[in-house]
Parts: sequence; C-alpha cells; structure tokens
Amino acid sequence: MTATETAEDVVRVDAVVVGAGFAGMYLLHKLRQDGLSVRVVEAGTDVGGTWYWNRYPGARCDVPSMEYSYGFDAELGQEWEWTELMAAQPEILRYAQHVAERFDLRRDISFSTRVVAASFDGGRARWTVTTDRGDRIEAPFCIMATGALSAANIPEVPGLERFTGRVLHTGAWPKEGVDLGCRVGIIGTGSSGVQAIPVIAEQAEQLFVFQRTPGFTFPANNKPLRPDVKQAYKENYAEVRERQRHSSTGFSNWSPINKADKKAPATGPRPPRPKLRELDEQQRQEAWQQYGFGLFNRFTDIYKDPASNAAACDLYAEHVHAVVQDPDVADALTPVGYPVGCKRQVLDTNFYETFNRPNVTLVDLRKGAITEITETGVQTETGHYELDILIFATGFDAMTGALERIDLRGRDGVRLTDVWAEGPRTYLGLQVAGFPNLFTVTGPGSPSVLANVIVAIEQHVEWIADTIGHLRRNGLRTIEATAEAAEEWGRHVNDVAQGTMYVAPTCNSWYLGANIPGKPRMFLPYVGGLGRYRARCDEIVANGYEGFALA
Ligand code: NAP
Repeated sequence: MTATETAEDVVRVDAVVVGAGFAGMYLLHKLRQDGLSVRVVEAGTDVGGTWYWNRYPGARCDVPSMEYSYGFDAELGQEWEWTELMAAQPEILRYAQHVAERFDLRRDISFSTRVVAASFDGGRARWTVTTDRGDRIEAPFCIMATGALSAANIPEVPGLERFTGRVLHTGAWPKEGVDLGCRVGIIGTGSSGVQAIPVIAEQAEQLFVFQRTPGFTFPANNKPLRPDVKQAYKENYAEVRERQRHSSTGFSNWSPINKADKKAPATGPRPPRPKLRELDEQQRQEAWQQYGFGLFNRFTDIYKDPASNAAACDLYAEHVHAVVQDPDVADALTPVGYPVGCKRQVLDTNFYETFNRPNVTLVDLRKGAITEITETGVQTETGHYELDILIFATGFDAMTGALERIDLRGRDGVRLTDVWAEGPRTYLGLQVAGFPNLFTVTGPGSPSVLANVIVAIEQHVEWIADTIGHLRRNGLRTIEATAEAAEEWGRHVNDVAQGTMYVAPTCNSWYLGANIPGKPRMFLPYVGGLGRYRARCDEIVANGYEGFALA
C-alpha cells in the first residue's frame, strides 16, 4: 500500500512513526512487511537517532558490537562486519545507514522535519500528526519512536545568551565537526562527558572540566574485534540472539570460546560466594589486585548491601588517588555521599589519566557553583574561566522529555503533560491510558535503558506490530490501556526497584528524573529484567490483552 495525499495536503497512512532511530527504522520495516502504509517523521537529515545526534569526540557504545545490533534478520547479521569490540559512533551510524539502504527505508521517511503536535480524534479513531513544516499526517496508529535519551538538557544558567563563543551540546553535535584547538569548557561528567573529555583534551589548547558530581567510571578495555571471535559469533548467531531475547539485560552471556575447551561444570552445590564486606582489609586489597574493576561485577552484594557498597567505594577512591597525581584533584574526582550502582555505569578510556595533563583543569563545582555565563566564559563562585567554546555534556530529559515536548493530546483533547504532571504512568511502557492507538517504544516503565536497548526495541516493535495485526485481523479499531492496569504497572515498577542502589535515598540520577529541576522524583525504567518483561507482555496477549480495552 502507499500513502494517500489529498487536496488539503493531508497524508493518510495506516501508521505514523515519529523518529528514525533504531526503533523507527525497524518499525517501518516490520509494519511494511505486514502490509501497512507507513510514514516516518524524523528531525535529523538521515537515520540513526541517538547515533545521528551524538557525534561528539569519543562517542561510542559500551555494549559489545556483536550484540548491539539488530537480530531480526539473519542475513544482516552475517553480512555486517564490526571492527571493534565496542563500536564508535561513526561505525554505528554507518550500520544504521546500511540498514536503511538494505531495506529501502528512506523513501517513507520525511527527514529534517520535527513533529510538534499529535492529537486523537475519537469519532474517527484517527491520529493527526502536525510537523514544523506544516505537514499533516493522519493514521489510525501513531507510534512514538522518539528515544529515551534524545531531549537534550541545557540547564538554565543566567547569561548564556550573552556568551560570544560557541555553545554546543554533546547530544546535538554539528555534523561537519568542530575545531577544538582553542580554550574549551565542558560542563558535565556523566557518560558523554567522560567519553569526550580525554579526546577533547588531546585537541584543545586548554580544557576546563566543570564537574558538579564526580561519578564512578570503569575502564572500557575496548579493542579491535578478533576475526575468530566474530566468526564464532556468526556461526552461533541464532543461539546468541535467542539467549539475548530471554536474558534479563539483553546480553547473551554466550562465550565465543569453543565449548569443548570449557571445563566440565562442577557437580554438587556451589560454595557460597564471599561478600565484599566480609573480607578483611588485606583480603580486600588482594581482591582489588586480582580483579581490579572486575571486582564490581564479582561481588554483587555491592549493589544490595550498603556495607559492601561502602567498602567498594573506599577501594574505588584508592584507585582514583593512585592514578591522579595531584591529591587535591584526586579528591575532587572521588565520588562521595552516594553509592556505586546508583547512576548509570560509565565506561571510559583514560579518563582519570587525562587530569594529569598540563592543559586540563578540573573545576570542582562543589567548592563554588556556576553563577553565570559571561560574554567571554564561565563565572563560578571561585573564579572566571575564559572560553572560546562551551560544551554542555549535561544529559537529557530522559524517558519523558521527547514525548512531553510534543503537544500530545489523547481522547477528548487531554494533554499528556497534564496526565503526567505527577510523573509518567504507562502500561508496560507501551501505552498511556486515555491515548488509544498511541504506542511508545522504550517508554517510561519499560526495561529499555537498563537493557541492551536494541534488543528491548525489537521486543517492543514486534509486540506493537503483532498487536496492530491482531486489531486489523479482527476488525477492531482501537486499543487502549486501562487506567487500572497502568496504575498497577506503575506500582510494580516502583516495587521491584525498592532495595536496589538505584533508589537509595542519597541517589540522584536521570533514572529518577533528578537531573531536571521540578521533574517528579520517580524511578522511570523497569528493573525487573527484559526476559521477565517479555514473558509478561506475551502472557497479557495470551490472556486476551489483559489490561487493555479493545473496541
Ligand atoms: P548524564 O549522565 O545525565 O550526565 C550529565 C552530567 O552533567 C552530570 O555530570 C551532571 O552532574 C552534569 N550536570 C547536569 N546539569 C548540570 C548543571 N546545571 N551544572 C553542572 N553540571 C550539571 O548525561 P550523559 O552523560 O549525556 O549520559 C546520559 C545517558 O546517555 C547515560 O547515562 C547513558 O545511558 C547514555 N550514554 C551512553 C553512552 C555509552 O554507551 N557509552 C555514552 C553517552 C551517553 P550531576 O551528576 O551533578 O547531575
């Protein structure tokens, strides 16, 4: 089927998809395969979503490439050649472009077009999507593939408009690149900042790092992908993909080592693993010598037991001081006052080593906050820093921002921003009560950002496509989450997070909405695991779409 254009310039299709990142691309392919006409609207000039926008120096993935890729098409998996264990942004973007070409996706995507509004007409059971170019697209189904980390957060700092230098955000990096051979300031030391700082330091005349909260970051140990490992993956891809789908985090935990080389599993009950807090000082030091940062994966009690967590934080602090030569700078870089495991795990290459360079200055905002941006730089309570370029590595209005920035109105004109005033409520992260036939991919309440996100996306896309297929086959016009089901799912999302470091009282993270002033504090993703979530979604379908009203 093809899209129909009418005299009033309204495009009519079976489904409209917002966003051409990994979710939007697969949705387009899948829904097309199911015989639907689809229009995708994308603000960028090409596909790739996150990997289109985040082109900052050092941007790369921290999930192994062989698993951070689509699993829906076996041939695609065989033909694409990753070069590194964890791919850098240009390679992932090339992969997205390859997928777009391979499945001829671009012909149904409107690029350089931003959706500004979407509203549901209950009488006609139709969504109308409006864009910044004045286009109108009508469809029975509207799917928001807008990404969980796509609404850039630029904090309101007085005077920003006065700055005569260049202002950039890591999540909207210019396509043509930036000459950084000058005085550069960067605000933020989360995943983006930690990746960017070592690379920018090599280019900048002077780099000033404005740090509010030091984080925990672990060496990425990235390397070229060995041909035999790649080959082993490809030979076993069906098994790898199946394991990914049913795992809790979207990783297969499959080892490319020949199974015959592995030791036979020990028989009998396993001895209990020691807990980090049970080790005495000498044993702790030995554990650090033996495992290094691997210790944080080995002693999983760190993430449940505050005493173990405190012991791990002490060991971490020692490491920072061993690498960073200036003890004051090491102190400033040491996380204190919140547990490891609260914020998103960060992986780096030479982050701490970078602070030993003569052209890098750490500005500890805990000793004096930013008061204003001046015409020539950043003023803090402790000094003024002259800059030519100011980079915001200040993250995103995560999980809800991209949806709330669109004027989204459901049944009877109800606004999403009003429904979510006290925090987002969804059923499975897939639907919002009062918004029939609107689906969100990786929405709040879904495992998405706590899993290998491509695997999470594929599950969502397939569930949504199957649901639309079910409606069409059965002559049904609408599907809508019930308010009760959404309430109950919200309670469940909150319940399973309790007892984890993510919601520790001293924890502030974007998972909790704590990075955005005024955003309700609520744990946003589902920590129950992707495998369990998938099983629940399937069970709901088997029970006749339990918790949804079909009409
Ligand atoms: P982020 O984790 O939210 O970090 C933002 C940083 O900016 C924090 O250090 C924060 O400090 C600081 N900040 C925010 N507002 C500030 C203000 N007003 N003044 C001073 N500092 C301020 O954002 P991100 O680094 O872009 O990462 C977001 C997520 O994207 C990651 O957690 C990850 O899921 C994903 N990501 C992944 C990769 C990867 O695959 N390796 C790379 C980049 C991003 P506070 O901690 O004090 O708030």
